[in-house]
Amino acid sequence: MKILAIESSCDETAAAVVEDGHRVLSSIIDSQVQEHKIYGGVVPEIASRRHCEAVDGVVTSALTEAGLSLEEVDAVAVTAYPGLIGALLVGVNYAKGLCLGSGKPLIPVHHIRSHIAANYIEHPELTPPFLCLVASGGHSHIIEVRDYTDFHIIGRTRDDAAGEAFDKAARAMGFPYPGGIYIDKASRAGNPDAYKLPRPKVEGCPYDFSFSGLKTAVINLIHNCAQKGEEFNRDDLAASFQKAVVEILSDRLLLAAKELHHKQIVLAGGVSANSGLRTHLKKECAARGYTLTVPSPIYCTDNAVMVGAQAYHEFLAGNVADMSLNACASLPIDQIPTW
Ligand code: ATP
Ligand code: MG
Ligand code: FE
Repeated sequence: MKILAIESSCDETAAAVVEDGHRVLSSIIDSQVQEHKIYGGVVPEIASRRHCEAVDGVVTSALTEAGLSLEEVDAVAVTAYPGLIGALLVGVNYAKGLCLGSGKPLIPVHHIRSHIAANYIEHPELTPPFLCLVASGGHSHIIEVRDYTDFHIIGRTRDDAAGEAFDKAARAMGFPYPGGIYIDKASRAGNPDAYKLPRPKVEGCPYDFSFSGLKTAVINLIHNCAQKGEEFNRDDLAASFQKAVVEILSDRLLLAAKELHHKQIVLAGGVSANSGLRTHLKKECAARGYTLTVPSPIYCTDNAVMVGAQAYHEFLAGNVADMSLNACASLPIDQIPTW
């Protein structure tokens, strides 16, 4: 089954053709990151306007790269929730137009489900159940994936998402947006034990995360240095911050794996591209006899291949929408509407 998939939930306009949930026939990503960089973050209205301009060309390129016409694909999938509402609406309406004109089935996809499904692309042998850490720009969850369309939230962030914490700490350190990758690179040259940073816990909720205290500690440290006229060592601070985030994410994940008896561990979302997190969890999982599955970095951040991967399983589960489909800015992973 060949699915044309469209993604426009944030600042990437992406389209792909994916066969049977894992074979990549094409993938196009048009990133707006350069436009948002000057503002230090995504400006929602600019994002919507850029999706409007880009979506037709991106979809056409994805079909051309796959060597297919719209008639030759079996269904159209689109990220419908959660995300920036104006951004989502562009992809959703474009996909509805394609389906209205062609009569193809319309498959709405939950963005976080698709981040998890990014793992099936290079690891089609991966099958649920497994325990997944989703750490992205807007989400940080530990999720029990019981089946391809059956998700149970075990832990969540109480404040900032891990990617958001990376980006805000990076901004304070003077790195461009989005700062996660800059912290990752700087960390390699820094001493992770140079600065003492907190690892906040959530009282009574051992699987939940809290990153705002850690982010504030970094910002305060930088302000204090400035007040004293001292320089902070950026590589050391980046490495110390990254070590703290990696420990917070990994400790909760490994505790959940132990207590809930999971031996298949999976990472997803933009932060799972982080080299420190990947290296640490590879070692810790190997020591415990767990398998660890991680997407290639290109499939960790937003793309449409992951949408096509999840859409295949949504289609098999009967989750196909009609022309009343609407986008939704926020929707828990376990509460998608049925059609
Ligand atoms: P969401 O998926 O929650 O809606 P999003 O789509 O904006 O949010 P993603 O595309 O999954 O998020 O990931 C982007 C985030 O990943 C950014 O915060 C970015 O800084 C972070 N990120 C990307 N690469 C790395 C890296 N190597 N180390 C740390 N963070 C990274
Ligand atoms: Mg993005
Ligand atoms: Fe995302």
